Amino acid sequence: MYVRTRVPLAPLTTLGIGGNAEILAELTDPAEFPEVVALADREGARPLVLGGGSNILVADAGCSAPVVRMATEGAEFEHSRDGETVTVTVQAGHTLQDLVERTVANGLTGMETLIGIPGTVGATPVQNVGAYGQEVADTLVHVTAWDWDTGREVVLSADDCRLGHRTSIFKHSTRWTLLTVTFRLRPSKLSTPITYGMVAKALDVPKGTPVPLADAAAAVLAVRRSKGMVLAPGGTDNRNVGSVFLSPVVDRRQAETLRAEQAPVNDFPDGLTRVSASWLIKTAGFALGQTIAPGIRMSGKHFTLVADGQATASAFAAAARTVADAVQQATGIQLTPEPDLIGDEPTYLRLKQKALTSTYL
Ligand SMILES: Cc1cc2nc3c(=O)[nH]c(=O)nc-3n(C[C@H](O)[C@H](O)[C@H](O)COP(=O)(O)OP(=O)(O)OC[C@H]3O[C@@H](n4cnc5c(N)ncnc54)[C@H](O)[C@@H]3O)c2cc1C
Repeated sequence: MYVRTRVPLAPLTTLGIGGNAEILAELTDPAEFPEVVALADREGARPLVLGGGSNILVADAGCSAPVVRMATEGAEFEHSRDGETVTVTVQAGHTLQDLVERTVANGLTGMETLIGIPGTVGATPVQNVGAYGQEVADTLVHVTAWDWDTGREVVLSADDCRLGHRTSIFKHSTRWTLLTVTFRLRPSKLSTPITYGMVAKALDVPKGTPVPLADAAAAVLAVRRSKGMVLAPGGTDNRNVGSVFLSPVVDRRQAETLRAEQAPVNDFPDGLTRVSASWLIKTAGFALGQTIAPGIRMSGKHFTLVADGQATASAFAAAARTVADAVQQATGIQLTPEPDLIGDEPTYLRLKQKALTSTYL
């Protein structure tokens, strides 16, 4: 484990914003996790966990609590005796992109539409990562985690994790550090049925059709690229966190009205109906590329916020609030931000706290 002091966190996040970690520990060898525990004991504070930094806003003042960056790698595949399933146990710091590519190459279905999502596997149960019809809840068996409350390593089943739409028991808690994640996949040449209109269109198949795994992954990547939702080195819209806002829940009456306005309104596995946050942002009158706060603008391809130049966390928080307020005024619907916060950024925290108390989560 490498431990350094006063380390800039901005380069470790996709937004490229924020101050220093007073102490940053980087864990590459899972066997060295007890050193993280010893560090936390010495500092008298449990660490904040960083994976790929693709869903994180770091405060401008940085953070005084120790930060541990999970950089452990490795995935072990195990076939069931009857050949019906394959379980894969993955170290928390392993990249999701590599895992998805390997499952597709090995003819395993269950993760192919998660292609192109940045970050680490250990972060995927935190917000039940999902896209284009698949989510972690579909395949998660269990996780192993360090429980900072009890000082023990625990195994938590998928049920224990209480995965919901972009949420879980881990989402607003520092109690657990995920160490490994185990998924169950199915050998198949075909994907799960394609449920997203844009992906079905790219594949030229009716919704509900399974297609060859590699075709599904390629179509999802093409759709993602068209929205600037794949990080490409040197790209102009590269400094982003994917969706800044969760898709808000709408009731039946709102859904009917929104569908009549051609809004993308979808029914989700949790039985709730949600409208696309980016459609709401567009409807509130924002334009692609528009500057919202110093160094923060709409992406040129999609209605989400991106950073440029010397952007700050306070400017990002102000921009998020400007967008949320405008959407509230134009549509009556409250947007709540998705990325987590490291350090103290009061404006952003207030927006996040709305999320904690709202029914949208
Ligand atoms: C271009 C782009 C596209 C995206 N598209 C999607 C998408 O389609 N669907 C989607 O769901 N998300 C998407 N995201 C968001 C993000 O990629 C995911 O949430 C991803 O899982 C974050 O992984 P990470 O390793 O970068 O986590 P980080 O940003 O480092 O951390 C995110 C949160 O997880 C916690 N965490 C990380 N690792 C651990 C661990 N081992 N134990 C405990 N807590 C941990 C952190 O403390 C933090 O609270 C996108 C982001 C970008 C930039």
